[in-house]
Amino acid sequence: MGPPGVGKGTYAAMLSQAFGIPHVSSGELLRREVASGTDLGRLVSKYMAQGELVPDSLVNRVLFERLSKPDCRRGFVLDGYPRTLSQAEALEATFPLDLAILLTAPLEVVVERLAGRLYCPACGEVYHEKWRPPARPGVCDKCGHALIKRADDAPEVVARRYSEYLSSSKALAEFYERRGKLFVFDASGDARVLCPRLVEKIEELLRGKEVVKL
Ligand code: AMP
Repeated sequence: MGPPGVGKGTYAAMLSQAFGIPHVSSGELLRREVASGTDLGRLVSKYMAQGELVPDSLVNRVLFERLSKPDCRRGFVLDGYPRTLSQAEALEATFPLDLAILLTAPLEVVVERLAGRLYCPACGEVYHEKWRPPARPGVCDKCGHALIKRADDAPEVVARRYSEYLSSSKALAEFYERRGKLFVFDASGDARVLCPRLVEKIEELLRGKEVVKL
């Protein structure tokens, strides 16, 4: 969990690699539905383009379908989900989490990260104009597709996403805190330096619990 631009995707990708479990991003799953022109994709696209949350019933459907796949049996790293209390309740009843990590960073850090973000619509890879530029400007290193800026990274949409985040995040953090599952991590520095520390911390927190074998 954390505000848009805090680095959820970057951390989730690194954790997925470190623990050998899939990275499941709700935004990415929804963007793929939109790109493939499915009925669900048509339903969700208007919410996404405006930076509004997609209704819980639709997001839950997409997520639970993904988490039911065999590769998630040993565990998964969620990114961008749950975003509301009702999603957290549905998730806890179906796929209870071992740990909920809240990434924090000041607003100015988050805005700078989003303003320079570049996205590959073909493979989902994410770059940053300043911090993580592709080898060839405007072209994905992984698959060679042209990079774009996400429509919802436009400043006025970011402001809406940020306020959506603020209004729902407190209840969500409290939900996991009450269950002894919340861990708050300051993600305002360089993710490549901070992520190994987060991995260590997670190992420490999960030690002794019957969860993912580390
Ligand atoms: P993200 O890539 O996580 O920033 O998500 C992009 C957009 O997808 C959001 O602005 C929402 O419109 C939608 N979305 C992603 N995850 C969720 C979620 N858990 N609940 C509702 N909408 C979501």
